[in-house]
Amino acid sequence: MPSKKYDLVIANGRVIDPALGFGKEAHVFVKDGKIAKIEKESASITREMKSLSDEQFIDATGKLVVPGLIDIHVHLREPGREDEETVESGCRAAASGGFTSLCCMPNTTPCIDNQETVKFVQDRAKNADARVYVIGAITKGRLGVELSEIGDLVNMGAVGITDDGTYLQDAQVMRHALEYAKMFDIPVMQHAEDSQLCDGAIMNESYESTRLGLRGAPPVAEEIAVQRDISLCRLTGGRLHIQHISTRAGVDAVRRAKAEGINVTCEVTPHHLILTDDEIGKAFNTNLRVNPPIRSEADREAVVEGLIDGTIDCIASDHAPHSEEEKDCEFDKAPPGMIGLETSLGLIKTYIIDKGYLSWADAIAKMTVNPARILGLPGGTMAIDSPADIVIINPDKKWTVRADKFRSLSKNSPYIGWKLNARVEKTILGGRIVYEV
Ligand SMILES: [Zn+2]
Repeated sequence: MPSKKYDLVIANGRVIDPALGFGKEAHVFVKDGKIAKIEKESASITREMKSLSDEQFIDATGKLVVPGLIDIHVHLREPGREDEETVESGCRAAASGGFTSLCCMPNTTPCIDNQETVKFVQDRAKNADARVYVIGAITKGRLGVELSEIGDLVNMGAVGITDDGTYLQDAQVMRHALEYAKMFDIPVMQHAEDSQLCDGAIMNESYESTRLGLRGAPPVAEEIAVQRDISLCRLTGGRLHIQHISTRAGVDAVRRAKAEGINVTCEVTPHHLILTDDEIGKAFNTNLRVNPPIRSEADREAVVEGLIDGTIDCIASDHAPHSEEEKDCEFDKAPPGMIGLETSLGLIKTYIIDKGYLSWADAIAKMTVNPARILGLPGGTMAIDSPADIVIINPDKKWTVRADKFRSLSKNSPYIGWKLNARVEKTILGGRIVYEV
């Protein structure tokens, strides 16, 4: 019997691939786990269809067909807190959110500061529902004192370094990190919040923090951290990536640095684009506690502006699972972080695309090709011979976020009960369907 011509055909969808500058009705053909061709011609599809079984033919009429999404800021809790998330469960959550690739942060227990731990996570991800790229720790134990063996981490496959969760406060160590990372052509990713200014902070420093009597993290803590690191980036010629940017001053600093030609990129989370600190006093929902904190309306507007004008390169969830026991406490006792993989796309559609801030193509770029470029990841496009990582989106499907539907092992989302305007229908990883609604 002759071998099949194609393993999968996704027909009649609106194919959007910002990397290719492609955005029209087309058919996507998959063979051996890769993209075989994208064709506009509608006549040929009937001939191809004849050789396909029902499972191999997806009619995507009225749907968007886009490259698998990439989230470069995810906390998997393995090793250490497998009750909150494992590599496997985090990848299942990713698949249901339309993500086919993710980068995991090193703040596990033990932390990912050596080859063995990088390898451990990679092994756990081998048969998972998403591709996992490991970010190593900048410093041993994430203590901010002594650099990790950065060359070893990179040789084992780490694609970037960060001490995320904490700011690398020591400027001399940060300088050396940028110098070493430059030799290996990887970015240093920074959680940009001056630790001393944020000591003991529970929420954003603002009228609201005063009113609620909670200690605040001042926006200037981000501004100072971002500006220092831009200066060190200029000095070293290294690559700097600012994680989860949240303030007007931070965005302004990155905008100026880019204009100057400094090699800096940055990401924003859906929560910093959508939520503001006046939400906290309404119910003291501990799932609103996050670092950096959700800010004032003026800062929220500034990150939206930065997203629109390209100062902010990409959208990342900062998916941070916590157990119910840990979050079931007073607001100021709760650990910071919220999950995000399964709500990112719906939130971006509802609050960014539907508000007219970004087109679908621009939003998809910030969740595919842009993050791929920052970290040199494969994927983020449906170019011929790329891995067949594809997500099919129903762009108008309304759905309600429900805790019992999360595939993540943790449920700490502030969006439970929210109604969102777009939904992932199918996620395809290397030609294999890993999620369908
Ligand atoms: Zn962080």
